[in-house]
Amino acid sequence: MSSQISKKIARMLMEGAKLRQEACPACSSPLVQLKSGDLYCVNCEKKVVIVSNESDIIEKASLPSTLSNLENVASFLIEQSINRLKGSTPASMNIELQNVLLLLDIIKKVRELKKA
Ligand SMILES: [Zn+2]
Repeated sequence: MSSQISKKIARMLMEGAKLRQEACPACSSPLVQLKSGDLYCVNCEKKVVIVSNESDIIEKASLPSTLSNLENVASFLIEQSINRLKGSTPASMNIELQNVLLLLDIIKKVRELKKA
């Protein structure tokens, strides 16, 4: 972070803005939250919308159904991978098996989260 940006951020904080933990997706500078609630990147000199933050909120609101959806999708993909395995060459078989292992790992984690 350049000292110029630090100074700008410091000035905005004095004006009532808050420093956020999130970094700018474009330049990784720390973001400040304006009084209006908007997030602002001092380096890019523009307002920033953090998408992951919003989806975090959505996930928290509907975590159980999101997990069930994820489990369903993973199960479906495993089924597809198994179907592809039937006619596959050893090389692509390896890739499919790795896919299946990844998906199984996802399902395992989903189930752990559901229990939590
Ligand atoms: Zn930026």
